[in-house]
Amino acid sequence: MPSLSTPAIKLSRVGLTVQRQLKKLGINTVNDLLLHYPSRYEDYSCLIPISRLSASKAVTVCGRIELIANKRSPVKRTIVTEALVADKTGAIKVVWFNQPFLIRNLKIGDNIFLSGKIDADYYGMQMTSPAYEKIASSSQRGSGTSSAQETTHTARIVPVYPVTEKLTQKQLRFLIKTSLPAIKEITDWLPMEIKKELNLIDLTTALKQIHFPDSLTQLQSAQQRLKFDELFLLQLQARQIKHLVQNQPAYSIGFNQTSTQKFIRQLPFKLTSDQRKAAWDILRDMEKTHPMNRLLEGDVGSGKTVVAAIAILNTVINGYQAALMAPTEILAQQHFETLKMLFKDWDINIGLLTRRFRQENKKTKKQENKNDKTNLNGQTISQKDKAMLASRQGWLASPFLTEGARQGGPCPYGELLEKIQKNEIQIVVGTHALVEEKVQFAQLGLAIVDEQHRFGVEQRTKLRNNVIPSEAEGKSHYPHFLSLTATPIPRSLSLILYGELDVSLIQEMPQGRQKILTYLVPPEKRNKAYNFIRQEINKGRQVFVICPLINPSDKLGFKSVTAEYEKLTKNIFPDLKIAVMHGRLKAAEKKKIMEDTRENKINILISTSVIEVGIDIPNATIMMIEGADRFGLAQLHQFRGRVGRSEHKSYCLLFTENAGQKGLERLRYLEQTNNGFELAEKDLQMRGPGEVYGTLQSGLPDLKIATLGDVELLKTARKQAERVMDLEKYPLIQEKLKSLNKKYLE
Ligand code: ADP
Ligand code: MG
Repeated sequence: MPSLSTPAIKLSRVGLTVQRQLKKLGINTVNDLLLHYPSRYEDYSCLIPISRLSASKAVTVCGRIELIANKRSPVKRTIVTEALVADKTGAIKVVWFNQPFLIRNLKIGDNIFLSGKIDADYYGMQMTSPAYEKIASSSQRGSGTSSAQETTHTARIVPVYPVTEKLTQKQLRFLIKTSLPAIKEITDWLPMEIKKELNLIDLTTALKQIHFPDSLTQLQSAQQRLKFDELFLLQLQARQIKHLVQNQPAYSIGFNQTSTQKFIRQLPFKLTSDQRKAAWDILRDMEKTHPMNRLLEGDVGSGKTVVAAIAILNTVINGYQAALMAPTEILAQQHFETLKMLFKDWDINIGLLTRRFRQENKKTKKQENKNDKTNLNGQTISQKDKAMLASRQGWLASPFLTEGARQGGPCPYGELLEKIQKNEIQIVVGTHALVEEKVQFAQLGLAIVDEQHRFGVEQRTKLRNNVIPSEAEGKSHYPHFLSLTATPIPRSLSLILYGELDVSLIQEMPQGRQKILTYLVPPEKRNKAYNFIRQEINKGRQVFVICPLINPSDKLGFKSVTAEYEKLTKNIFPDLKIAVMHGRLKAAEKKKIMEDTRENKINILISTSVIEVGIDIPNATIMMIEGADRFGLAQLHQFRGRVGRSEHKSYCLLFTENAGQKGLERLRYLEQTNNGFELAEKDLQMRGPGEVYGTLQSGLPDLKIATLGDVELLKTARKQAERVMDLEKYPLIQEKLKSLNKKYLE
């Protein structure tokens, strides 16, 4: 009899190969098997007498094998297993392809269930490759034959699991069925009063029914219960984390009114009232002696950076350091430049730390593109990968040093680390190098993560765990923590999803911004678009061109940066300054290109999606996107947010060669809507939460069965969470949370 902790390898039919496959699915124990929920179901519960069959979708028949034999099909050299299966009312032909071994198991006279679709043609009806399951004979079972209820693969609602290539549904179903008895060890931790009020079934039943439902109604009840559990725990967890954070010590960072006012006065613009309000929220949080844990949410271009800069300024004036982590090297470099500018009249040293991997071995184009993508998503390439070579890069801007350093010149990496450790550098900007390299801060007072949804929980946690040890008090002080995001999550959801964070919203755009005009340009108007681009450049403006790929790829036929560069420099704009940007350039090259772009030495910048986030070139007024259907709405909105950052009228031109009907509809919607939140809602409607948020998963909670589309249930869970304010009274819930919280704040 398996118990929850039984290792999968101990189960029958699990050898080393199967064990390895299970591991790939994150399954090590019986408990893991039970928590491996089906991704969908096949309803084979409809058992029909053979005489009443007609061409239809999934059905099950139950009969006796009258004939079975392998035949060689002359057509494609396949082996066809043909059988005739009969019940009291009639007989039907059944075929399977390339499974000659079937006849070793299925013999004439065996009673079987067959589940699948019925095909009908000129020659009559036939079942093609149905799922089958033998009905145990009385001698095998001891007593009677198996009833339809006991089947696993047929004649019921059959679970379909996420599997690996080498693991079959049949194997996994068998293993989960074998594990089911262990369910009785699981205690139902949900209080009776909640179950009663919400009409939720108990946990044991839910787990049984989620795998092998007796009916669709029972399945629904099971899903409802398990989804509720997940969302309810999410709420409680958020609350607990919030509580934990509030109980940690942090150094109070006083609001320095004089300096803050001086800083705001020297800005080339007036802060919007939302920006002021957000800055005020932040400064007030930082004065407290427990760490701030706040999310600053605002659409692209709403001006989050300058709000962060105000927080940074106060931190530094109080004698502490501030760290700003960005998901891409280009964005980190840009923040470095921006802060250098903003603090040019202050005695503040700013460091920039990045690290990139260069490939030693030549790889195929496909892999290169894949790698670029890995870079773009701000994720680290495995350190273990021997083909990669890490190179560290550092820059320093310091008003005390030579002219070069004042401008933000290169600085040996080691020296930079040393200065950070000695508090000689007050602001450190960087990529995830900030948490992955051995960066030791002397006293980190404020940790900021830009585009927080690009980072995993672990990276964010690592940054905030840069504590300041205090000898006098014997306890460590945590930095204040601020996340910036442009992910437009509808407000109702954001309260729930970011439950552990306090949220400041910037809804208002800076004054004088004009609506960005978006056009889906038909292929025949491409030349017209190029003429328009030339006009804008003649006026002194700049242009971005986005392509889905770096190098041409015949297979996909998508536009690539290199091919577009060739085309534009040779045929269309031979007289203009055109540059390319992508994730595989060296850090120094990227830095140079962005500087040149900022100084308007480049008219057209052709880029992959690396410039998707954060890039700020106010003089750019055209965003031209090739292969627009290749990108999600949210991503396109981010691209578009790269223009329209000044008083100049800006345009977003979308090109697509092979978008389907749905793709075109999405792009048309982008033409009509400029608001990130509305777009997010629309995207949600059109693609469903799985797809929309699936790609952003890192910033969102990891849901096993519930989805962000379960809005009603989310609200219910939130309400019920308030009911169990005093967790002391609910030891079972406490126990459950303890096992979940291990990862956070260790
Ligand atoms: P995001 O919120 O997308 O990070 P940024 O911080 O990059 O936006 O700001 C976008 C642009 O708007 C920058 O060029 C910035 O200097 C400018 N900006 C910020 N606040 C204001 C304001 N109140 N008025 C005018 N321009 C502003
Ligand atoms: Mg930004």
